[in-house]
Amino acid sequence: MVIDIDRLPKDGLTLNRNFEFPSLDLVDEDAAFLEPVRAEVTIRRVGEEVWIKGRVKTRLSFVCSRCLASFELPVDSRFDLVYMPEDVHELKEELDDEDMDTLFFQGHEIDLREVILEQLNLTIPPKPLCSFSCEGICAVCGKVRKDGECGCQVKDLDPRLDQLKIFMKDKR
Ligand SMILES: [Zn+2]
Ligand SMILES: [Zn+2]
Repeated sequence: MVIDIDRLPKDGLTLNRNFEFPSLDLVDEDAAFLEPVRAEVTIRRVGEEVWIKGRVKTRLSFVCSRCLASFELPVDSRFDLVYMPEDVHELKEELDDEDMDTLFFQGHEIDLREVILEQLNLTIPPKPLCSFSCEGICAVCGKVRKDGECGCQVKDLDPRLDQLKIFMKDKR
């Protein structure tokens, strides 16, 4: 869905619609969409800039990075963005680091689909966990700890070793 910024109404354009994306578009390769993305977006031209404000809602499934169980997570995220025309960017090549967050559009168009997908991907945790206290799997037998005691004797009581195990597993 491409927005022609030259045709935006003076008071801006408000859209309320669903977007469907293939799960492959998510930054986490194990994540999947469980429903379409509902987006409410207002796009307004303010001088040279384009302001995009909105909200995205959906439900995603993830694979826990510790115990490998699938779990669902609702997403409800608001965003408030300012896009500047790319040609202005070229003139200001020597901007300092503070401006690194500035977003740009090329020509006279903004692809709203891309904006929404990007905002959604920003909400995805780098290491999803089924719960903050997920204990992962038993280091001896590989059983998922939350499914019950396996009875294995884990002798290394040094907590630093546990941390190391979690780290090694996360690295896989
Ligand atoms: Zn887990
Ligand atoms: Zn065990």
